Amino acid sequence: MSQSRTAIVTGAARGIGAAVAQRLARDGFAVGVIDLDAASTEATVSAIEAAGGTALGVGADVSDAEQVKAAVAEVAEKLGPPTVLVNNAGVLRDNLLFKMTDSDWDTVMAVHLRGTFLMTREVQKHQTEQKYGRIVNLSSTSALGNRGQANYATAKAGLQGFTKTVAIELGRYGVTANAIAPGFIETEMTAATAARVGVPFEDFKKGAAAMIPVGRVGNPDDIAATASFLCSEEAGFVSGQVIYVAGGPRD
Ligand code: NAP
Repeated sequence: MSQSRTAIVTGAARGIGAAVAQRLARDGFAVGVIDLDAASTEATVSAIEAAGGTALGVGADVSDAEQVKAAVAEVAEKLGPPTVLVNNAGVLRDNLLFKMTDSDWDTVMAVHLRGTFLMTREVQKHQTEQKYGRIVNLSSTSALGNRGQANYATAKAGLQGFTKTVAIELGRYGVTANAIAPGFIETEMTAATAARVGVPFEDFKKGAAAMIPVGRVGNPDDIAATASFLCSEEAGFVSGQVIYVAGGPRD
């Protein structure tokens, strides 16, 4: 392939983002590993390098336009123009609506929606120049509605509209945009949810697995495999889609 083989994954210090970054590195991409704090990216970067891949850890808050600009520029300069972007950074501020604060709402919108918007706006400059690109946004089954997550469900549903619009606007430049909507994936995020509701994580997972048709919860590699396909050259006719990776149909 003649295009640049540089990918950026946000929120890649741990969880799903770390698995996606490692998988894309295995697929032959040099990976810009972005997370809030550069030091926190070390484990992901080392794992990629230990497996013979190339990675660069960059600290940036995806909801901050200046930091996003600087981070994308650094990746482009050191690894080459990014053609693949996985918008994965995310936070939870769960609360029932009557207890949800302004800041619970604003923080979730800032990281998921503004963050994805800022990163995509910055990276598309390189993609359109290269006349090639792959964008994958992390939505969630929560987009369909989930108790205690009015903010998160709204953001994750919003990301689906964003994805479809970007697919329409950038298709002519050889850029596809798709969303992955994971169900229950075992990470620190779901562990934190278990802690919030006061259920031991093992019991929480067992309860979730009982509701999932394939009979188990997901793991970050389940999402990484789907992202790998969507970021591949051969996925070029798949665009504007939302793929539920949830062990069953959840839309
Ligand atoms: P996680 O373990 O909490 O990891 C999220 C990562 O994003 C953390 O490293 C976090 O950094 C980073 N991050 C947070 N805010 C950021 C910001 N403003 N700028 C840059 N990085 C930031 O979450 P996960 O479970 O892997 O989830 C990854 C994505 O999948 C999220 O978008 C999530 O909403 C989505 N998802 C997860 C599940 C699930 O079951 N786990 C299901 C559906 C969708 P810090 O550690 O410094 O906070």
